[in-house]
Amino acid sequence: NFAVSLPKTSDDELGDLAKSIEVFANELSYLKQQRSEFLASISHELRTPLTYIKGYTDIVKKRELSEEDRKKYLNIISEETNRLSVLIKELFDLAQMDQNSFDIEKERIYLNHFMDRLEQKLAPAFQDKERNILFECEENLFLMADPLRLEQILINLLDNARKYSPDGSNIKLKAWKYKNSIHITIEDNGKGIPEKDIPYIFNRFYRVDKSRTRSLGGAGLGLAIVQELVHAHEGEISVTSTEGKGTIFELIFKGE
Ligand code: ADP
Repeated sequence: NFAVSLPKTSDDELGDLAKSIEVFANELSYLKQQRSEFLASISHELRTPLTYIKGYTDIVKKRELSEEDRKKYLNIISEETNRLSVLIKELFDLAQMDQNSFDIEKERIYLNHFMDRLEQKLAPAFQDKERNILFECEENLFLMADPLRLEQILINLLDNARKYSPDGSNIKLKAWKYKNSIHITIEDNGKGIPEKDIPYIFNRFYRVDKSRTRSLGGAGLGLAIVQELVHAHEGEISVTSTEGKGTIFELIFKGE
């Protein structure tokens, strides 16, 4: 890391130039540091599942095992492989977003139909964990958005709501129009997010409780991707949460 401090020896153009170079160099140094932190996180997140996969593959290959143990170890290998493939997909999404090379193909979405289809699609996955998603959508809502990306946003938020709330609890997805904006909220009665962590949860690789959330599957990239996607739709995302009570994510998009 380096920080540059060029003396501003005069108030003329040269002095101003020195000042600009200093600002630019410090910005560059900050970006370099961010990039190396990002790379360190990526390699850590890739290495951890690989270590499990390698370790358990060796055991299954070399040892005499009971059928039960063999299945247990193969399940771990399979879970860790899934984790890797999700992570790689998320990294790929973010890389495309950083290069502005991902397409948003907006079309006019009839939100009521869209939510019905989403409900049918998600019901089996959520029933498994004894969660209920309650959909409340005001009639006749239309939104200009990319349907695949909107689905990705909502599934990500619903999946978090599911991961961070207890079995048997309800998750609410509401949509309504206020003035000229479409509001969508995803509400859970889960563990909530501590106030001190709220400013960081949209940062890449940020997890509130690293040890706990590892068992739940995420690398901390989901919300970073959601935020990028919402911004790419010129929308806004915000969160309110109370520890022990639950969390509400709110999306606001321009209506028609
Ligand atoms: P992850 O893949 O770990 O879920 P995300 O980027 O989706 O990563 O979320 C970042 C962190 O924010 C999570 O690790 C979790 O600690 C917290 N979080 C996100 N959604 C919720 C929620 N609905 N309830 C409680 N905590 C949440």
